[in-house]
Amino acid sequence: STAMADDDNNVFAKILRGEIPCDKVYEDDHVLAFRDINPQAPVHVLVIPKAAHVSAQDFGANASPEEAQALWAAIPKIAAQEGVAEGGYRLIANTGANGGQEVPHLHVHILGGRPLGRLVAKDG
Ligand code: AMP
Repeated sequence: STAMADDDNNVFAKILRGEIPCDKVYEDDHVLAFRDINPQAPVHVLVIPKAAHVSAQDFGANASPEEAQALWAAIPKIAAQEGVAEGGYRLIANTGANGGQEVPHLHVHILGGRPLGRLVAKDG
């Protein structure tokens, strides 16, 4: 099956529990952000809720207003901290099978530091 379970053993759950390291760039009560281990641009940060939401679908349906506000407030702070607020950046939240989501814990990619080209690849 390609359906994603709310999996306590996914890599971001392990990072949140401190079981594996991350290169942290931001943290508050509801949000953690760290550098992607396989960066696709000069700035490539992953922003995740601390609560175990599988995807944007799950987060939108089940996150508290405080969690949702915290995620959207953190993103521009991190972009500014990383020096890409002025030059611009791209947010991506791959969701489910066609979205190419690999880790079943919501993560928003912040990509920047160079012109990022077309929005999506022509094929998978
Ligand atoms: P996605 O394809 O949107 O699910 O993105 C998953 C992202 O997680 C990929 O860009 C990976 O490079 C990244 N990733 C996987 N494991 C780690 C890790 N341990 N630390 C940081 N980033 C990771």
